[in-house]
This record gives sequence, structure tokens and C-alpha cells, in this order.
Amino acid sequence: MRILISNDDGYLAPGINALAEALQPIADIVVVAPDSNRSGASNSLTLDRPLSVQQAANGFYFVNGTPTDCVHVALTGMLPELPDLVVSGINNGPNMGDDTLYSGTVAAATEGYLFGIPAIAFSQGSYGWTHVDAAARVAREIVERYLDALESPYLLNVNIPCLPYEQLGPLTPTRLGRRHQAEPVIRAQDPRGREIFWIGPPGACKDAGEGTDFHAVSSGRVSVTPLQIDLTHKTQLATLAKALA
Ligand code: MN
Repeated sequence: MRILISNDDGYLAPGINALAEALQPIADIVVVAPDSNRSGASNSLTLDRPLSVQQAANGFYFVNGTPTDCVHVALTGMLPELPDLVVSGINNGPNMGDDTLYSGTVAAATEGYLFGIPAIAFSQGSYGWTHVDAAARVAREIVERYLDALESPYLLNVNIPCLPYEQLGPLTPTRLGRRHQAEPVIRAQDPRGREIFWIGPPGACKDAGEGTDFHAVSSGRVSVTPLQIDLTHKTQLATLAKALA
């Protein structure tokens, strides 16, 4: 099996290193990841300048672009053969509920999915890389299942609690929860006295009930959410058709 690995925290992040180490014994892996932390990049492509691909001493390729750039370049010209699977992460911190729209980790997987390749995004339930080795072991177990039961391509969003492997609950199918709106921007001044703004933290959970990704992870279980990309509000189509008639 050939696996393309990317992330949004950059090619030097502990999470991508743990993921590559865990998958290397079971697959032919190629790592193509951003040269710096591009968390929050969502599905952005770099269109105003060319991209360079360089190889680090450990064999990882790094790109001066976004997670989506990395997977796009890898799939559309850089790799001699297409991978069987695209995996992304392991992200530093959760990508649950509304986070999935902003996440570069999910976006890297999404780019594989859009090219018809099964893809899985992996994130840790909180920040700081605690027990990232346990998360990598879970990632490998999920990849080893290779999920033949799912229609291909599939796009899975996995969030793993930061717990020792032995304390992790089972893989749990979930839906996305919802967050409240994000916290306000943080207003400050730059050294020249000009006003600047830092984007604030995400909002607290609004829908974290039974069945959601938030609920599974807060209960110590591994959340696995199948995603789709069609944003059409299907139940509103008929109402809109009437309104526009
Ligand atoms: Mn990140």
C-alpha cells in the first residue's frame, strides 16, 4: 500500500513524525508537508507564486505552501504513482465540529478525497503532543483496517483523546458537533503604535451531545466522523425554488 502523508503543523511537527514512524512498517510512505505551521489554512491554494519542493535529511518533502498545496502538488505531478490512501496529521489539537471548516489538517485529507483517493485526517483531542505515540498507534490500526466496507473514496475525520494507549476507549462513529461563535479578536498595538488584531480562540461547545465528536472524545473514546463536501442545503432547495418563482 502506498500512503501520502501531510499535515498543517509543518514537516518538523512531532505529530507527522509519529504518524510516519507508525505507518512506515506497513506501507510505502511519502511525506509532503508545509515548511511551516499552516494551521487554519483550510482548503486554500497558493496561486500568486510558484511552489518549491525540497527534501529534508529524513526524507520528508517540504513545500513553501499550504496543506492543500502539498497534496495537490504531490497528486498532480510530483509523485510517479498515485497513493492508495492520503493521511493527514497527527494534528496538535482537536478538529471537531466547526473546526473542520478551518482546519488545514482536514483540508489536506479533503484534497486527496477530491482526487478520488480515500483519506483520513488525524487530530489529538487537546494541545501539547501528550501521548502522541498512542495516537499514532491508533492511526495505524485504523489504516490497517483499510475500511473496505466504506464506499471509496471516503473521507474520515478522526480525533483521539490525549490518553495512554491502554486508557483509550473504542473507535466510535460520530457526527460533527457544533461550537458557539469564536471568541472576539484580541486587540493590541504593534511596536510602532499601530492597532493590530489577533484572531481569538474557537468558541465553546454548543452541541456536544451523545453521538457527537465532542462527546466521544470527552468520554475518552476515539471519534471517527465520515465527512462529505457537498454544502448544499438540500431541504431548503424547494423553499428557495418557491421564493424565487
Ligand atoms: Mn494544526
